[in-house]
This record gives sequence, C-alpha cells and structure tokens, in this order.
Amino acid sequence: MRLILIGPPGVGKGTQAKKIARKHDIPQISTGDILRDAVANQTSLGKEVQGYLDRGELVPDSLMLDLIEDTITSDRCDNGFILDGFPRTIPQAEGLDRLLRKYDMELNDVVVLEVDENIIIDRLSSRRSCTNCGHIYNLKTNPPEHSGICDQCGGELIQRDDDKPATIKNRLEVYREQTKPLVNYYDQQGLLIRVDGTGSIRDVYERIRDVLDL
Ligand code: AMP
Repeated sequence: MRLILIGPPGVGKGTQAKKIARKHDIPQISTGDILRDAVANQTSLGKEVQGYLDRGELVPDSLMLDLIEDTITSDRCDNGFILDGFPRTIPQAEGLDRLLRKYDMELNDVVVLEVDENIIIDRLSSRRSCTNCGHIYNLKTNPPEHSGICDQCGGELIQRDDDKPATIKNRLEVYREQTKPLVNYYDQQGLLIRVDGTGSIRDVYERIRDVLDL
C-alpha cells in the first residue's frame, strides 16, 4: 500500500498516518520528523535545513527529493509507505511521480484532510509533542495524564518552536500558496480522496478507514 496524506499543518496528518501505519504494518514517512531529527542531531543535513524549519519555510525541493528517494527505496519501505508531509509543492509531486516510475511503484490513494483554518490555529497552539518518542498531545482535546509528561514513555512534552503564533501564520500561508495546488494535481490523476478532518481522532480515523476500505 502506498499512500499520501496531505493537508495543512495541524490538521492531524501525523496522528492519522501513525494509526494507519501501525494497523497495516507499513512505515509512516514524516519528512518533518526526519528533518527535525537531523536538526536535533546536528547532522550535515540538519545544519543545512535548520533555518528553513525555524522560519516555517519549505526546504528546497531538490534536497527533499533526494531524501525521499533514499527513503522509499530503503528496505523498510518494501511493503509500501504512508507519506506524511511530502510532497508539499508541485515540483515535489512531479519529482515523486518520476521516482515512482523509475522504481516501478504505484500510488494507491492521496488523502487530503480538510479543516477550517480557525480550528487549525487553535489545534497548533495547543499541540505538544514528546521529546523522546514523538507522541503528540493536544492540551484541550487529548491532554497527557500528568502535565508536561508523556503517558507513553515518561518523556518531556514540549511545544515545537514552529507551533508558536508568528510561525503558524507563515506555515499556513506557505500551505495555501505552495501545497494546496496539489489537491488539484492529484484530483486530475484520479487519486484524490477528500476527508473531513474535524472531530475526534477516532472520528477522523474511521472516515479514512471507510473511504480507503482498510
Ligand atoms: P511538518 O512537521 O510536516 O509540519 O514539517 C515541519 C517543517 O519541516 C516544515 O515547516 C518545513 O520547514 C519542513 N518540511 C517538512 N516536509 C517538507 C517538504 N516536503 N518540503 C519542504 N519542507 C518540508
């Protein structure tokens, strides 16, 4: 199974991608997580991309396509993958199409999660993530049992720097201008499925499960 999840930041792509990935035993490829790890470990990639992440801007397409080529051709993607956060621009989607042709792979579906922008701003401001295992919480709708501590592993919960108000605004603008055109791109290929991203994590997961027939 090869899936893409698209949608604005904070729409719940990561949360849903993790659930689908666990259920179907395929890896969730979150380019945001890969880049944040690289920054945290100060690898050469991390040093190169840190400024873009801090400003809420997109990392250059050529760099992202190299990263994705390495990932989708690695052993862990033998049974498929869910891409979460990639592609983010038309050139990335075109580049991905070239890679899929090169390696004789096919996409099954592209799911776009849709939510009103005001809800997004609220969700992003209340989002906290575990510094250890990456588990995501929402202080209002899905809080941890003990404030600041991950229920899963006891790790420290933090607010991502790019979830602070000024950067959120910029990330939403980047989404509108650069990523939203992908909805049309995949619609024209007959791959697009629109899913309402409002409601609880479970509600959204059930909608996705129904439309994908998982
Ligand atoms: P995310 O966790 O998906 O919201 O991504 C966090 C940040 O990583 C974004 O604001 C970008 O700076 C960078 N990033 C993640 N995925 C991509 C991508 N496909 N293209 C360019 N930049 C990306």
